[in-house]
Amino acid sequence: MVCVCGNKDIYYKRIYEGQKLCRKCFVKSVEKKVKKNIRYNELIKSGDKVCVALSGGKDSISCLYILSQIIKKRNDIKIFAIAVDEGLGTYRKNTIRKAKEACDWLGINLKIYSFKEEYGKAIPDFVKENSRINACTFCGVLRRHLLNKKARELGATKIAFGFNLNDEAESVLLNFVFGNIEKFLRLGPKVENKKIKKFVPRVKPIREILEKEVFAYADALELPYYREKACPYGVESVRKTIRKWIYKMEDKYPGTTYQIVKFADLLIPVGRKKYLKDGALKYCKKCREPASKEVCKVCELLGNESSD
Ligand code: SF4
Repeated sequence: MVCVCGNKDIYYKRIYEGQKLCRKCFVKSVEKKVKKNIRYNELIKSGDKVCVALSGGKDSISCLYILSQIIKKRNDIKIFAIAVDEGLGTYRKNTIRKAKEACDWLGINLKIYSFKEEYGKAIPDFVKENSRINACTFCGVLRRHLLNKKARELGATKIAFGFNLNDEAESVLLNFVFGNIEKFLRLGPKVENKKIKKFVPRVKPIREILEKEVFAYADALELPYYREKACPYGVESVRKTIRKWIYKMEDKYPGTTYQIVKFADLLIPVGRKKYLKDGALKYCKKCREPASKEVCKVCELLGNESSD
């Protein structure tokens, strides 16, 4: 059993492509796929200022590392990172410590914003006040809002998220299960809206890399990422059930995860023309931030009474 380069020291077996790769060839192959995704889907172009949404986990750190390697050879593209502290106790303290370590190592400017400073409350406070809404709803909605706002204020032209192939396949199936056509149509390698200037386009550079390959990539390069306990607020959810199912299917039928995403990629452009004529984004009539409804989810969660 040898790698394509002749090396007998096999690091990773990519079953769905029938490849056996040594550490060096595996790293190269992941980076090649990411670069191809960036080029093919025009995720980043000359003049861009890319903000990487950094959690400190293997996905966002790998995404940051690959982008930094591409961008360091270019004078026409800038990169920085934002980490959000939602107030998730030692879990978030540890992930942010890793985010700082990675940024220091790569010489990348990292900005950290907290829910407490921006919204006056952290996740435990929100949950305590409103037990009907789970922590992940507050966390996801407010984090996306804060990232978009801060990235825009710092002049970012793109926000890069470390979503991997499994994340995207989960989102596809999750929106199928709940029949959420609008959310489904907003998936894809790049989400932008030219009419809504306050919306910073979102890109997903590592979207074609399986989660287990992201782990193997980060470990092959000994990237500093947080690998211990998961978020204490993570609960059993439909997404988790779908995640397990995708893993089982991938084990039994290699290539399943990729096929789910590719199938969605074929449907999305067709569906967007029919169902998302204006990109389904507008400005919230209360806070004037981008929203998919008259009043955005952030104002709804914060009970924002102010109005223009
Ligand atoms: Fe936030 Fe929920 Fe993820 Fe924890 S599990 S980081 S609360 S979205």
